[in-house]
Amino acid sequence: MPITVEHVTHFLAAAATLIHERRDELTALDAAIGDADHGANLDRGFTAVMARLPSVADKDIGTVLKTTGMTIVSTVGGASGPLYGTAFVRAGMALADRHEISTEEILLALEAALDGIVARGKAQRGEKTIVDALAPAIEALQAALAAGKPLGQALQVAADAAEAGAKATIPMLALKGRASYLGERSIGHQDPGATSTAYLLRALAMTCSRVEEGA
Ligand code: ADP
Ligand code: MG
Repeated sequence: MPITVEHVTHFLAAAATLIHERRDELTALDAAIGDADHGANLDRGFTAVMARLPSVADKDIGTVLKTTGMTIVSTVGGASGPLYGTAFVRAGMALADRHEISTEEILLALEAALDGIVARGKAQRGEKTIVDALAPAIEALQAALAAGKPLGQALQVAADAAEAGAKATIPMLALKGRASYLGERSIGHQDPGATSTAYLLRALAMTCSRVEEGA
C-alpha cells in the first residue's frame, strides 16, 4: 500500500503529539548533560510545523518534508535545530515531487536524513548523539524489510532498535555537542537527542502500522 502525503502529515502530527508528551522528560535528560532545553526546543519546533502544514497540505511529500525541515531550522535553535532541520530537508529532497511513495523510499528517505545529520554534525556512532539511535534503526529496518516484514512491523522493529540505541548511550562518553564539555561527567546519562530520535521513529512506526491496518 503506497504512502501518501496525508500519511506523512499524520506522521508529523503523531510526532508533534509524542514530543509534546515527552517534553519534560527530554528536558530533564538535557538538564543532566546539557542546558535543559531539548524538550522545549523540539516542542516549539513541532508546534510551529503543525501551524505551517495546512499551507502545504496539497503539495507533494518532498515539499511537506522540506517545509518541515526549514520550519525546524528557523524555530528550534541550538544544536538539534540545524541537525533535525537538515534531516527533514534531506528526506524531502530524496522524495522531491512524489505524491506516493513505496516502502523502499521510506528507507531511502531515512538514509538521506542520517547522511544529512552526519554531514552537518560530523558525529560517528559511539559519540553519544542522535546518530546512536538513527543508525541502528536504519540497519534494523533494512534487515526487517529484507526478511519480508510488512512496513509497519519493520518500522516497529526499527523504533525498538532506536530505543535500544538511545539506552546504549548511557555509558558513553559524549564527544560532540554541549555534553562533550562535561568530559567524563557525561558518562551515566542517556543522550536527549538519541532519545527524541527514538520517539520520532516510534511516531513513524505507529502511523505506518495504522495505514497497514487500513485505519
Ligand atoms: P543544545 O545542545 O544546543 O542545547 P539541544 O539540547 O536541542 O541543543 O540538543 C542536544 C542534542 O543534540 C544532544 O543530546 C545530541 O543528541 C545532539 N547533538 C549535538 N551535537 C551533535 C552532533 N554533532 N551530531 C549529532 N547529534 C548531535
Ligand atoms: Mg540543550
